[in-house]
Amino acid sequence: MLPLNKPAQKLIKPSDTISWISCVRRVWLDKHQTGDFEVNAFNQLLIDIGLEHEAAMLAKLQNQYDVHKANSVKHTHALMQQGVAVIYQARLLDEQQGLIGHPDFLIRHASGQYQPADAKLSQSEHKKSIQIQLGLYRRLLDNELPAIVFLGDGRTVTLGDEINPLVDDFIVSMQELLSMPQQPAVHYSHSKCRICPYYTHCRPQFEAKQDLSLLYGVHGSAASHLAKVGISTISQFASSDLETLPDAPYLKGSKRKHRSILQAKSYLTGEIFQLNKVELPEGTWVHFDIEDNPLTPTRERHVYLWGFLAPPYNKDNFEAIWTDDETEDYPGWLDFLTKMDGYRAQYAPLVFAHYSNHERSTIKKYAQRYAMQNDATVQWLLGHDSPLFDMQKPVLNNLVLPLQGYGLKDICKHPALVNFQWENEESSAQWSVVQFSRFLDATDAREKQRLKAEILGYNRDDVIATRKLEEWLRHHFM
Ligand code: SF4
Repeated sequence: MLPLNKPAQKLIKPSDTISWISCVRRVWLDKHQTGDFEVNAFNQLLIDIGLEHEAAMLAKLQNQYDVHKANSVKHTHALMQQGVAVIYQARLLDEQQGLIGHPDFLIRHASGQYQPADAKLSQSEHKKSIQIQLGLYRRLLDNELPAIVFLGDGRTVTLGDEINPLVDDFIVSMQELLSMPQQPAVHYSHSKCRICPYYTHCRPQFEAKQDLSLLYGVHGSAASHLAKVGISTISQFASSDLETLPDAPYLKGSKRKHRSILQAKSYLTGEIFQLNKVELPEGTWVHFDIEDNPLTPTRERHVYLWGFLAPPYNKDNFEAIWTDDETEDYPGWLDFLTKMDGYRAQYAPLVFAHYSNHERSTIKKYAQRYAMQNDATVQWLLGHDSPLFDMQKPVLNNLVLPLQGYGLKDICKHPALVNFQWENEESSAQWSVVQFSRFLDATDAREKQRLKAEILGYNRDDVIATRKLEEWLRHHFM
């Protein structure tokens, strides 16, 4: 047990940085509530891979040094007093500053002092959360030695005094938050809030206040700015005058403001606003979507599935290039290019429709990965007359919809919009990565087949969804 004067919850921990960077209310709630949240499957996968990375680092260090595992703050101090070479899962506490931390390793330096070291999946030491966490360990050790990071790409880097200002800001902010009796006032952030465990706690509060940040395209800082001139609810914003509406952060220029005012009206009434006539390219459309795994050992994204839906766009017309693992990455890429040539020969002029920029940027990355920028098919795909068509563009450029996000699923699943439902309700891009990881780990052939069929089914529904979106746009807005 820790000899604490403060309850453990009120101590500042390096792991608080993740919540703190995301949202100050989130870290306040972490410290003031006793919510026990289930970790979702994707985050669990990240935790598991992180633990594997830590275990690999531990094995490496064990090959070189005598490694001792600590089981308490007192034990960590005793091991440091003994001068052991490496302490695994060290526990450090500074009651005066209210800091506690568990660095993966403490490594004895030639000076006799210890350096904190952490294994991190990230490929960059510039991530704010890594810098603050390692900086806190340095603060707890109270010496001048830099901290060591074993990064996910195999590099070992050090972080020294340059990270001190960040650590100071974090500690001051955390001390303020810990002393606050009420949760801090914040704004809604669609990207952060919808994946936050406190979503159901905060969301009704934002709705009750009609917080402007609930609107797509209205940043929290714009909401704060507009509140100062008396526009603090969606209703007030919806009835505001475009001519006199002041500029606000990320909300400048009449085009953007006009769109945001319509977004407010759409939020209140469910009405769809058409800004311009939708124009779609001529040709034979083939719908296209990829599934890729960011969690490969090299951290180079591996596309395990390139999926297509060609005319006449029935379920049976779904085609896919599948690779079992990243050792088949290159043949999979070549099969994709061959497939493209086949469609080009069959359907000229071809429109290769996808949603968002991810597919195009992935083709670009693969061309770079295999030094194929001059390949004729690659040049056709990425050149001036590219057949690739991002369907998010006609939506964002021409329509204001009663949505908070303009992702494919937001639009397609909405009953008043495209109203297409995926067969597997819980499927998503992260779900697909989790299923693929299970596929990689599975040893039973039938289980592997089952998982593959599930992933293929999800991708098939993705390309059917973009087809349904195309039909919806043609039917209502052209
Ligand atoms: S739901 Fe949003 S506002 Fe609430 S704690 Fe989470 S990130 Fe912060």
